[in-house]
Amino acid sequence: MATGPALSIARVSKAFATPEGGEVRALDDVSLDVTDGSFVVLLGPSGCGKTTLLRCIAGLETPDSGEILLRGERIDHVPVWKRRVNTVFQSYALFPHMTVAQNIAFGLQMDKVGKAEIERKVGESLEMVRLSGLGSRKPSQLSGGQQQRVALARALAKDPEVLLLDEPLSALDLKLRRGMQTELKRLQRETSITFVLVTHDQGEAMAMGDQVAVFDSGRIVQVGNPEEVYLRPRTAFVADFIGEANLVAAQRDSSSLTIEGLGAIDAATLANPEAVETGAVTVAIRPENISLAETADGAGVVADVTFVGGDIHVDVELGANRLNVRIPSHGAQPPRVGARVHPTFLPQSLRVLADS
Ligand code: ADP
Ligand code: MG
Repeated sequence: MATGPALSIARVSKAFATPEGGEVRALDDVSLDVTDGSFVVLLGPSGCGKTTLLRCIAGLETPDSGEILLRGERIDHVPVWKRRVNTVFQSYALFPHMTVAQNIAFGLQMDKVGKAEIERKVGESLEMVRLSGLGSRKPSQLSGGQQQRVALARALAKDPEVLLLDEPLSALDLKLRRGMQTELKRLQRETSITFVLVTHDQGEAMAMGDQVAVFDSGRIVQVGNPEEVYLRPRTAFVADFIGEANLVAAQRDSSSLTIEGLGAIDAATLANPEAVETGAVTVAIRPENISLAETADGAGVVADVTFVGGDIHVDVELGANRLNVRIPSHGAQPPRVGARVHPTFLPQSLRVLADS
């Protein structure tokens, strides 16, 4: 199988006029290479440009500038129906008057695929999404989860080079959603089709993506596998959006980092000593990486203690900073509200963040 990117997005920008006469930069110089046969998740809050990028890839929207390449060939001026890209929409978009089998066959008929081949593909794709036997039902006779599978079968039956999925699971309840996450992973592995899935749910992104591209206001701010974006967030936005993070004000000079109430730390021992910006910086530290020692001369004061099942969340005031600390509930007694504590952590769990 070819390696190289299946899909390349190169410096794509797209702006929309607002009714007020202004402009929204939905995509601002976005670049992304998607490896052939991989599962890529576009993650970001609502309104950050994820759907706009999918629509540009599918051909439903034309970028103002930049290029989109499928297997090295430009497709940004190729009409929608000629792109070997299919989309599964959140709304399923099934034809209500057609049976399940007719829904799947429709696109193949448009492509003038032979009758026997269509029958084979319909059967095969229904089997793939585990709906064999339901081909003669109407969409209204299926559950939401089953309708979602039909939409998937319909897209897969066309053998796309890239399958685009726009928040495909957000209409499902939590339990079904977990099950479908696993199913989608399986389908992607079995078909080796490149999947590009959009979600605003960081847990979903981490559970499914080989690569996660994090969006912030029309820009991709970081791309990496789930471990990378969690363990090595580049900006405060990524650190905060993926999991929980304490964003702490600190002072960096050439050899050390100083946090109010905690003193100076040798800069060489930080998680990313190569981050050399000096002056006022923001550092991230995960709540699970902090320990608390109760001591009368501790710089921190416990402001709040909350039991959350397996964890205890402790809020600590530390000068102008507030630290969210998570300690296991099966461990030692948690400190009481008002107690003085000294927060400790390994310096390599401190990460200096970039501004943008
Ligand atoms: P997401 O899918 O991440 O929620 P969208 O790509 O749908 O974000 O939207 C990005 C921004 O572009 C939003 O501010 C949205 O309001 C705006 N936008 C999207 N489509 C249009 C459109 N057709 N006309 C005007 N503004 C749009
Ligand atoms: Mg969207």
